[in-house]
Amino acid sequence: MMVLKSSNKMLTVADLMSKNILSCKPETSLLEAANMMGNRNVSAIFIMFKNKLIGVWTEADCAKLDFSQPKFYQQAISNFMSSPVKQVQSTMLTSELTVLFHNYGFRHLLVVDETNTPQGVVSLSDVIKSQGLEHYLHFRLVDKSYNANIPLLDASDSMTLVAKVMREKRVNAVLVENKTLKQKGIITERDLLNLLKKGEIKASCWESAGWPLLTVKETTSLYKAYQLLEIRKIRHLVVESDDLEVLGVLSLHNIMSDIEVAYMNELEMVLEQRDVALKKSQKNLFLAKKIINASLDGIMITDSSSTILQVNPAFTALTGYCEKETIGQTPRILNSGHHDKQFHDEMWQSLRKEGVWQGEIYNKKKNGELFLEWLTIIEIKESEDEDLLYAAIFSDITERKKAEKRITALAYFDELTHLPNRRLFSDRLEMALATAKRDDQILAVMFLDLDHFKQVNDTLGHTIGDLLLQQVASRLEKYVKAGDTLARLGGDEFTLLLTEVDEVNDILDFANQLILCLEERFKIQEHEISITTSIGAAVFPDDGSDSDELLKHADVAMYRSKELGRNSFQLYKPEMNARSLERMLMEKKLSKALKNNSFELYYQPKVNVLNSQVVGVEALIRWHDNELGVVSPASFIPLAEDLGLIIDLDIWVLNQACKQINEWMETGIEFGRISVNISALHLTKGNLVLAVQNSLTVWQVPAQFLEIEVTETSFISSMDEAKKVLKALKALDVHIALDDFGTGYSALSYLTQLPIDTIKIDASFIAKIPDEYGNSQIVKAIIALAQSLGLELVAEGVEKEKQLRFLQGIGCNIIQGYFYSKALPKKEFNHFITNQQLECEA
Ligand code: C2E
Ligand code: MG
Ligand code: MG
Repeated sequence: MMVLKSSNKMLTVADLMSKNILSCKPETSLLEAANMMGNRNVSAIFIMFKNKLIGVWTEADCAKLDFSQPKFYQQAISNFMSSPVKQVQSTMLTSELTVLFHNYGFRHLLVVDETNTPQGVVSLSDVIKSQGLEHYLHFRLVDKSYNANIPLLDASDSMTLVAKVMREKRVNAVLVENKTLKQKGIITERDLLNLLKKGEIKASCWESAGWPLLTVKETTSLYKAYQLLEIRKIRHLVVESDDLEVLGVLSLHNIMSDIEVAYMNELEMVLEQRDVALKKSQKNLFLAKKIINASLDGIMITDSSSTILQVNPAFTALTGYCEKETIGQTPRILNSGHHDKQFHDEMWQSLRKEGVWQGEIYNKKKNGELFLEWLTIIEIKESEDEDLLYAAIFSDITERKKAEKRITALAYFDELTHLPNRRLFSDRLEMALATAKRDDQILAVMFLDLDHFKQVNDTLGHTIGDLLLQQVASRLEKYVKAGDTLARLGGDEFTLLLTEVDEVNDILDFANQLILCLEERFKIQEHEISITTSIGAAVFPDDGSDSDELLKHADVAMYRSKELGRNSFQLYKPEMNARSLERMLMEKKLSKALKNNSFELYYQPKVNVLNSQVVGVEALIRWHDNELGVVSPASFIPLAEDLGLIIDLDIWVLNQACKQINEWMETGIEFGRISVNISALHLTKGNLVLAVQNSLTVWQVPAQFLEIEVTETSFISSMDEAKKVLKALKALDVHIALDDFGTGYSALSYLTQLPIDTIKIDASFIAKIPDEYGNSQIVKAIIALAQSLGLELVAEGVEKEKQLRFLQGIGCNIIQGYFYSKALPKKEFNHFITNQQLECEA
């Protein structure tokens, strides 16, 4: 198949045309014109009148002349010319020229410049020659191309007769036989022209004939024949059979029209293929358009000079600018003025280098509102010679960022009082301790607990309780010096870090000031409330060397104040530790409890509100002691941690849970999965992965039925180690839930770095929704965040229907809490879940 030479694509008519043009006036005689053509060796002459082209006369027109007319060759050429002359611009591309030849059937065109001044002549042959003739000619033979109907005249016939025969038979050559010489000769239109040049007509035509004949065989390739014509600078060859019989004449014209036909056929094929390709790419374009229009991300396409070419409906929804207002503008219409030159320079640098840029950027909507978007810009380069395009794809992340910010604030500040929380207090204490150790300074940690605060809550309600806490906080704040920290740990517990302490007496004075300042009555709505406080303090370096110890001792001292009648201050003294005798007793019992088999697992369901189905079960440990009764895990788990028993305890729970999974699978109870709480210590200090694997293997339980609940504390000391362990668990196919989310450490970075499946919103938030200050907002923010990160959500501690409805309304459908059931011993749980299943089926 022919391929149009791609190099030709950019060739223009000027590259192909022959510049050898000859012109004359209309009154020039045919004789003169023929002579001019002969001298210049061209086959066409253009006739000009007053600088205007009015016609053309070519060698081929010779055969149309009536040589019998007397002195016709002295007549003006304007009588014989053909007009008007078709012309083309020299800048036209060869590809367009080819189509012109193809569509209109022209053979020769006059080439003119932009002022219509003739520059040259171009023929279809020129185009074909520029494509390389070999391609067409090699595989064709003379046999199909020559003209077999060539008239044969006698040597004695006149040239007038020859011209007449040529005109009537429409041939451009005739053969002449000279019987005397036993020779044949040929007369062509060029011989007629030569005759014309001389201005006389010989009696016999033999004198104009060319002989001996230059011959080729039928089986010669057209390429060879063409070469022969080129070398000899002639236009006709006689075709002979093997036994030397004359068969006809092959003319350059024959060859060219042959090629032209082939060329045109192939051209048509190529154009057809182009049409098919175009249709296909139009379809692709249609699809692309559909996708762009349907995208929820805003999309904007610009050219290399930043002119906006296209935007999609999401763009309009996000920015407020409609298509009409944007096309033709530049992206500067969205400029917020928030980013400096360096920001933009770096963006462009990355685009030029990598072809892509991604990042967060502030833009401005049509209504002036700022929004933060996550933007990706890509460079689109279709081919070498095409202009660069840029596609900007963005989504509005303002809301997500706000949620992140709120939760980050939560990580460090108490939502109710806006005071630093436990985490920020610990951070500051650590820092202050480092400085104090280096500079040999004294510092103090104070622990404040309001006396009988619970009564306020119980009698006047939580709202008043909260307002009271806010007022207490702001009163205390007035006494805090720069560099010191007042924090709220939760409930009615406050702590204070005093850094620049000269002597211990100063602490005493300060504590008394605080006690006094709180003694003054509080006015809250219509209530007047009196409250007192108990304060304890521990001093570095005497009462402890690290933050835990100092806080613990300050707490012990505060309890001592309470024991001594409240509304007072106590400095820590070692004897105070006697209070922990009770604790020692518990420690002893706990150490034996594992051996004595006095633990039991209770089960609490997690229910999908939408269909009341149990989707999971949390295993919660219970300790039954003969003397102490049922001890809450909240009090013995920290003890087990201190005593180094926690790892064994967790392994016992894991094993017990897997055994239970096995049992439920056997009995066909649908429990979703069982989750097991793992202590923060265990995550980094034991070999949790091995323990999990063992339990799974022993009880032949598929890992997907097991979930591990960890708290954020697990990551604080050793993020990398925790990450490794969680990833290994995840690789086993064990689910991972983040417990007690929202208390203390809620740092967002964990969520994206760790393989967490589920977030459990802490019960302390749920307790106060939907109507308590701030909490609803926080829960909403947590849910929005979890949803944007694709995490599952469980709300813990749901007790009331209104809490459940609120949660459901904001898209949190998995609920754990007394509303459905408290944690139940195995038997009771089995009963519960069977009933639930029956209810669901009904
Ligand atoms: P957690 O993992 O956050 O468990 C939820 C706690 O909230 C459970 O207390 C549960 O009984 C209680 N709860 C559930 N629904 C409600 C409700 O509607 N209202 C109220 N007020 N409370 C509700 P529990 O069983 O006393 O456990 C306390 C904590 O002890 C657990 O908190 C967990 O951190 C830890 N824990 C329990 N079992 C284990 C265990 O086997 N291993 C380890 N390492 N820790 C455990
Ligand atoms: Mg838990
Ligand atoms: Mg929890």
